[in-house]
Amino acid sequence: MIVSIMNDFDKKIREVTGTYLKTSSIEIIQVNVGTPCDNRCVHCHIQAGPDRTEIMDSRTVHLVLRAARNAKPKLIDITGGAPEPTPLRLHKNRKKRRP
Ligand code: SF4
Repeated sequence: MIVSIMNDFDKKIREVTGTYLKTSSIEIIQVNVGTPCDNRCVHCHIQAGPDRTEIMDSRTVHLVLRAARNAKPKLIDITGGAPEPTPLRLHKNRKKRRP
């Protein structure tokens, strides 16, 4: 099953090319699970920090896991903010990188 969520970029690509962006394989899926983090690094691309509270909801976690099962990437990079403070414990489901 392919989960399709068209954003403005997707719509523009479709408008210009008449089709969607496609790939033959996906090597890495990076998942940003939320913004809470014990640090507040100036280079953080999501401005995570101790005062941030946005967390991926469980429905989205399940959609991500389903997409990952379908895509079969070599690596799922789970990050945040820091994944540890999230109540979803997505990081506890992690498996070692396949050889
Ligand atoms: S998520 Fe990473 S880069 Fe961002 S504040 Fe936390 S440790 Fe720093």
